[in-house]
Amino acid sequence: MCLFHITLLNNLKTVTYFYNKKNLFHDPIHNQTINIPNSSIEITIKREDLIHPFISGNKFRKLKYNIQQAKVDQSKSILTFGGAFSNHIAAVAFAGKEQGIDTIGIIRGEELALKKELNPTLQFAKSCGMRLKFISREDYRKKTSHEFLDSLRAEFEGFYLLPEGGTNNLAVKGCEEILQSKDSKFNYICCAVGTGGTISGLINASKDYQKILGFPALKGDFLQEDICKFANQDNWELITDYHFGGYGKIKPELISFINTFYKDHDIPLDPIYTGKMLYGIFDLIRLGYFPLGSKILAIHTGGLQGVAGVNAMLKRKKSPFN
Ligand SMILES: *Cc1c(COP(=O)(O)O)cnc(C)c1O
Repeated sequence: MCLFHITLLNNLKTVTYFYNKKNLFHDPIHNQTINIPNSSIEITIKREDLIHPFISGNKFRKLKYNIQQAKVDQSKSILTFGGAFSNHIAAVAFAGKEQGIDTIGIIRGEELALKKELNPTLQFAKSCGMRLKFISREDYRKKTSHEFLDSLRAEFEGFYLLPEGGTNNLAVKGCEEILQSKDSKFNYICCAVGTGGTISGLINASKDYQKILGFPALKGDFLQEDICKFANQDNWELITDYHFGGYGKIKPELISFINTFYKDHDIPLDPIYTGKMLYGIFDLIRLGYFPLGSKILAIHTGGLQGVAGVNAMLKRKKSPFN
């Protein structure tokens, strides 16, 4: 593969972020309509990625009410779970630092503890004061079991528990605030899906004439059920053809799409979530999925903090793709 591909967004321009320390959950997010030549279909990107370089997009939304609740509960800390490149881990670490709450990250992969250097995501989390505990993949699978949580409670007492990806009722409530009244003109609302919290919030906040399309970043049928737990309307659908082989899996055509999209529209995408969603939207337009004149709102859920880590990993592996 040619090396060009692994230059994935290495030359990002300086951008202005809308983060505001006093008001951790700032709300000036703008919609940016992009021009698609020779098409009657309009795509508008909601730039939630512009909240902050590290706690961007939906992770911010998902934390808002959870942090408030952790404060009300007078929890000693917030404990949560994530993989090595997790946007959620980075967001919790930063928000905890800003809001004066200790944070504990339970990280998948015990081998990471032996590495000489942490990857940029974990370095960032650590620099925010997050305590990191590395566990085996086998233990990680038990992360919702009572026994495992009890053992964590014995080790770190008095924490506020946030599930992997931060998805719970309060997270969904926060994600309901992504949509604003001006967004009622769109026919379609699209987002990337990981654990389903974000799409659930969008569904609950949508008008019944709008259709919510979720693009899962991973394989598996469990999402449908998870979303049903939180969603209170049925105007949604999962488009399962654009996971590119599974969570964190990357293919050359995805990376060239992301690089071209950045060149054409000046909007950086990440290869884990938002790149796959927009690739999917463009492909569906090509296939004639959307009626002429459709107005699509695509939520840029952020995630750009992970790009540096993915680039470093691709470089280390020498062969850029798996
Ligand atoms: C976590 C994440 C998602 C997935 O959100 P869920 O609520 O878990 O479905 C989508 N996009 C980005 C950039 C993310 O970091």
